[in-house]
Amino acid sequence: MKAEIVSVGTELVLGEIVDTNATYICQQLANIGVDLYLRHTVDDDQGRMAGLLQDARRRCEVIIITGGLGPTPDDLTREALAQVTSRPLHTVAAAEQQLEEFFARRGVAPTANNLKQCQVPRGGRLLTNSCGTAPGILLEHDNCTFIALPGPPAEMQQMLHDSVIPYLREQIRRVGGQELFTRTLRLCDIGESNTAQLLADILDTQSDPAVALYASPGEVRVRISTKADCEVEAMQRLDAVEQIVRERLAERVYGIDEETMEVAVGQALLAAGATLAVAESCTGGLIANRITDVPGSSQYFLSGYITYSNESKQQLLGVSDEIIEEYGAVSEPCARAMAEGAREHSGADYAVAVTGIAGPTGGTPQKPVGLAYIAVADEQDTICQEHYWPGTREQFKRRTSQMALNVVRKRVMGLV
Ligand code: ATP
Repeated sequence: MKAEIVSVGTELVLGEIVDTNATYICQQLANIGVDLYLRHTVDDDQGRMAGLLQDARRRCEVIIITGGLGPTPDDLTREALAQVTSRPLHTVAAAEQQLEEFFARRGVAPTANNLKQCQVPRGGRLLTNSCGTAPGILLEHDNCTFIALPGPPAEMQQMLHDSVIPYLREQIRRVGGQELFTRTLRLCDIGESNTAQLLADILDTQSDPAVALYASPGEVRVRISTKADCEVEAMQRLDAVEQIVRERLAERVYGIDEETMEVAVGQALLAAGATLAVAESCTGGLIANRITDVPGSSQYFLSGYITYSNESKQQLLGVSDEIIEEYGAVSEPCARAMAEGAREHSGADYAVAVTGIAGPTGGTPQKPVGLAYIAVADEQDTICQEHYWPGTREQFKRRTSQMALNVVRKRVMGLV
């Protein structure tokens, strides 16, 4: 099944907002085995939109459009769809009633503009919007399905998962096609080239399941994918390759699919019934932010100290004058003292501390930009690692936070 994506909006064409919707939709469609070759962006002009849709429908079986479904006069997606398919718009009574009830609950009456959102080209159906008022549209016409989704990302994503993915999976099955099933193993403590070397044989020769590598700061992902008639068959094949990857990469595999490092750390702490505090200098709160991105983190996360200045390291964490004067704030003794101080002040079972030079300024020949120390203190001991990650400030912060979380994970699991 071939699909094309159309993002609608003058603000997208002018670069005022970034088209995150298309990226998201492409990822989701690729995950279920839909073939994507073209993406388009068009302004709020009905003629140009209709022209684009007219061309696209000759090339593919599915066109997914986002944006331009709202109530204002520049929202023209439904009009463009009516034009391309020569199907006049009509109002769906049930949707109109729902919209009236929605406004009645807020004590206001819908305007005529709002009611425009209940219109659909004849033969099409509306898709429920569980987080907003603009419904989506699904219209099958001459061997091509047009699917129009709202522009706001949260609404678009919800509708994609609630209605569109199930619809597409069903269509793939109906035409006898095989669905694509994927599993992504997330790795830390190893770079892309080493991973490639350890998996060289399966990367080079294996075509089903296919195995591919993707790298980002502080992480390598191994994506295993296979096309199959049913889920059970697919899972068996994915399990077999996962086992080989795990045998070769052992505890470097920290998570699967959406399991981020912060999720893995939370799971390790919960399993151990332990609590955590963090003391951050160069990451400026990023580690605490990532930990608290995970729902339920209050069960194990006690405190975060952002100690950017020397004084705050001394006042909040009890780092001594001698350490600062003799070794400096970016040093192993300082990282150790920060971790121990955070543990003592918070009462947590584990405390992790980071201190380093994010750059681009502030480096010296002895302490270059990219130098980082990560320390973890627990009841038994305090361990400390020195790292060197030259790169941008953003990459440095991301890598340092990733590695710090990884050291916590491994310490809690007894791996370091
Ligand atoms: P509304 O009911 O809000 O008018 P709509 O379906 O008409 O919804 P648009 O008006 O095109 O959608 O876009 C609404 C907002 O959604 C935009 O201002 C923007 O913030 C966001 N948005 C739209 N398209 C995209 C996109 N492709 N990527 C990211 N954000 C988007």
